Amino acid sequence: MFRVILIVGDGMADRPVKELGGRTPLEVAYKPHINELARNSVLGIWDPISPGVRPGSDTSHLSLFGYDPRRYYSGRGPFEALGVGADIKPGDVALRGNFATVDDDLIVLDRRAGRTLPENQELVKYLNDNIGFVDGVEVKFYSATEHRVAVVLRGFALSSDISDTDPHEVRAKVLSSKPLSNDENAVRTADIVNKLTLMTYKLLKGHPINEARVKKGLPPANIILFRGAGSISYIPKLQEREDIIVNRCLAVSATAMIKGVCRLVGFEVVTPSGATGGVDTNVISKAEEVLKAYRNGYDFIYFHLKGTDAASHDGNARAKIEMIEKLDRAVGHLLSNLDLTSTVLAITSDHTTPTSVKDHTGDPVPVMIYSPELIGDGISDFSERSARKGSLSRIRGSDLMYTILDYANRVNKFGA
Ligand code: ZN
Ligand code: ZN
Repeated sequence: MFRVILIVGDGMADRPVKELGGRTPLEVAYKPHINELARNSVLGIWDPISPGVRPGSDTSHLSLFGYDPRRYYSGRGPFEALGVGADIKPGDVALRGNFATVDDDLIVLDRRAGRTLPENQELVKYLNDNIGFVDGVEVKFYSATEHRVAVVLRGFALSSDISDTDPHEVRAKVLSSKPLSNDENAVRTADIVNKLTLMTYKLLKGHPINEARVKKGLPPANIILFRGAGSISYIPKLQEREDIIVNRCLAVSATAMIKGVCRLVGFEVVTPSGATGGVDTNVISKAEEVLKAYRNGYDFIYFHLKGTDAASHDGNARAKIEMIEKLDRAVGHLLSNLDLTSTVLAITSDHTTPTSVKDHTGDPVPVMIYSPELIGDGISDFSERSARKGSLSRIRGSDLMYTILDYANRVNKFGA
């Protein structure tokens, strides 16, 4: 069996960019190490979920690790909560929330409490310090960007089959959450969410932060509106799966949501110092973590780089090129320290994020797989265009994980 290193430039794939003369950032970037490895690899294009489906980084990562997201993805609530660092277990119910402004009759005046809410963390801490449990169910809030929060309910007999309290419009009254089925767990959970909503209002309305906001002419953040309840179903960890053979998995990432998904499927996760999840990230320190894990006998190592996606959402092709060049230096550092006679290396992107669109699209992404026992395609360039000529041709969804593991002799036989 060979060991596996999987490298992903998040949102690295692109479309032809006008200001680059119709080339893509991957085509323009100076990436000698990746290209050298490409020559001895098989190339192809990969539909992270299926053709034309626009993936989130959460669904694409499930797919990347060989899980069908249509089976295992259970809504944005729990994955967004993972994304802000929440600890979620199967059975928990997670919801997304907004700090909002309501009047004394609970009529919504501003769904986002003015949107900028520098006091978010302080208010979340205050709620956590003063709530803790509702009807025996543990409640934990997590601070997210601007006016956003996530909340995780943990206890027995909960159900995510409940409606939102967020009316999704202003001048409407805060809704009461209703069970969406006859399930008594849903009735109970809706009741808990309604009690929790009133508790947030009671605690927040007279809070000194809100008094100060009103004095400054800002809308008070005096309630939390909930939406998107979801729970994580049981997901077998990579180590528990009978179709593949992986034992010790380590992920190197600085992005909360990715780290959450990785933990969920059985990775240990490290964030090296200097890794920021942004374009200023230190990729060499990440590569060092990969090498450390390699030397310590991990058999499946995941290297995630977020900066390529961040640059794409900003529509900044130049910054994206720079990130790809940084990734190339990290790959160079790996190549000169790995035993390539016993290691499989794969490089891809979790979805396309065209700098022209500034968001994820459903285009396939290039992928390359190096294995010591493979005859390479001899294509000494890794890009959206060149990968189409490779022998992997077009593969879909969780097939990629199996393909990579097969080249590492880590797939169990299907049948006798
Ligand atoms: Zn992504
Ligand atoms: Zn993105």
